[in-house]
Amino acid sequence: MVGEGKPRAVIVGGSIAGISTAHALTLSGWNVIVLEKTNAPPTRSSTGAGLGLDPLSQRIIQSWLPQPQLFHNLTLPLTIDQNQATDNEKVSRTLARDESFNFKAAHWADLHGLLYNALPSTVFLWGHLFLSFHVSDDKGSVKVKAKVLDTGTVIEIVGDLLVAADGCFSSIRQKYLHDYKLRYSGYCAWRGVFDFSETETLETVKGIRKAYPDIGKCLYSNLGSCTHSGFYELLNKKLNWIWYVNQPEPEVKGTSVTMKVSSDMIQRMLQEAEKVWSPEFFKVMKETKEPFLNVIYDGEPLGKIFWDHVVLVGDAAHPTTPHCLRSTNMSILDAAVLGKCLEKFGAEKVGSALEEYQLIRLHVTSKQVLHARRLGCIKQGLVLPDREPFNPNSAKKEDCEELLQRNTPFFNYVPLLLASILPSIYFNGLVYFLPILSSSSYDMYHTDRKFLFKLESFNGLVYFLPILSSSSYDMYHTDRKVKKILRVKYLVTKCAGFA
Ligand SMILES: Cc1cc2nc3c(=O)[nH]c(=O)nc-3n(C[C@H](O)[C@H](O)[C@H](O)COP(=O)(O)OP(=O)(O)OC[C@H]3O[C@@H](n4cnc5c(N)ncnc54)[C@H](O)[C@@H]3O)c2cc1C
Repeated sequence: MVGEGKPRAVIVGGSIAGISTAHALTLSGWNVIVLEKTNAPPTRSSTGAGLGLDPLSQRIIQSWLPQPQLFHNLTLPLTIDQNQATDNEKVSRTLARDESFNFKAAHWADLHGLLYNALPSTVFLWGHLFLSFHVSDDKGSVKVKAKVLDTGTVIEIVGDLLVAADGCFSSIRQKYLHDYKLRYSGYCAWRGVFDFSETETLETVKGIRKAYPDIGKCLYSNLGSCTHSGFYELLNKKLNWIWYVNQPEPEVKGTSVTMKVSSDMIQRMLQEAEKVWSPEFFKVMKETKEPFLNVIYDGEPLGKIFWDHVVLVGDAAHPTTPHCLRSTNMSILDAAVLGKCLEKFGAEKVGSALEEYQLIRLHVTSKQVLHARRLGCIKQGLVLPDREPFNPNSAKKEDCEELLQRNTPFFNYVPLLLASILPSIYFNGLVYFLPILSSSSYDMYHTDRKFLFKLESFNGLVYFLPILSSSSYDMYHTDRKVKKILRVKYLVTKCAGFA
């Protein structure tokens, strides 16, 4: 270790992945320091827009807060996931609907502020641009150089671990993977937050509430011809919307996916929007102040997410498209798993902890990134090798099912290492973790990592099997399809030595 006392992690990036890692590692007994190039915390600002938090992220965030109820004060429920077709006459028809969606909607700045305010401010070095790092010869420590933007001074910090939470253009990742390039998805997204806090009686608000009656609890996705849009309500009378438009890759300056837009570009966007979307949704777009444009990228899943004592989290580890609401949820889960792995192995075995972190996270995030890519292609009517381009106005029911969020791989997945944050009851001296994730999460929980694994399917059967290694049973996950449950049943029987 670099000094006496607690081990130290240097985290580059003070957005959701960095700040989440700061929480998780602090709880695991580490000292953390966060380097962020932005010169001040974006508290109480309108930075960003909406994001959706899955049930596990909700639990994790609350486990980090001294006052967990504050989380509920900043979020609205998203209990319905609805996809609908908008035809040429702008008439809507429901394609697929899931009423057991169990997400919460939050504004990025509110979530960031909530997590930031729950940490000592001394943890953060704002206005510090990460420049470079050097791993010591014995691979046990990392020296980081950063520029203090106010003064131009360059400082050095030594840590036992360097965490790259520096986003999808990560310069730390690039040091190991020189040739890694992000993949342009084929489309950009216009985004905005419509603020109706001034007046609830506004015609626009009345109109949208009438046309979309589940607003306030629904993630609406509208599919047109080779395009789609989505919206949901945020706390404090705001409506978050996004519209994906197929187009050649624009030129991006620097390392931001958000492009500057002129008033001409906004006017052209609105002219197109009027042709495609319902009058109610169009009015919301038109009355939104300062809509902005995101270029949508993802990246091929990586083969590794750590080298020596350097580890990637969040968008640095798995740049993704937004269609499965994964990027923030993956960041939070990365941080929580990393914290638990470091706690499990202790500061003397950082390499083993990173190995286990990679084992738990890499296969899950890789599948989710590729699924989000596929969903984006389907919703944008783009060509896929194994299917005809999706046409929302002629699609069959079974095709439409694919649109639902619950088909995301590992949708209800809970890594075993995190089971302790779930509510538990005690029975026969064993701890049983109750399913809390959603009405569909009947299945995956365990008793004690060392001996027993309890698996319960929705048909009321309960299975036990011995845990053979610490992480090999992390990933069992059933879903409501009977065939998968049967597969798990078979696996359980086999592992228990009955087959
Ligand atoms: C200001 C902001 C607003 C956002 N708003 C939304 C939103 O409304 N909805 C949504 O879904 N997603 C939003 N995102 C993206 C979202 O945070 C991420 O996609 C996801 O949560 C993963 O987060 P991340 O921390 O891995 O990456 P990012 O959020 O991209 O954060 C990376 C951080 O690293 C910092 N950084 C990069 N390079 C350096 C360097 N050399 N030195 C120091 N610091 C560096 C960046 O300034 C940034 O703060 C926003 C991101 C930012 C930065």
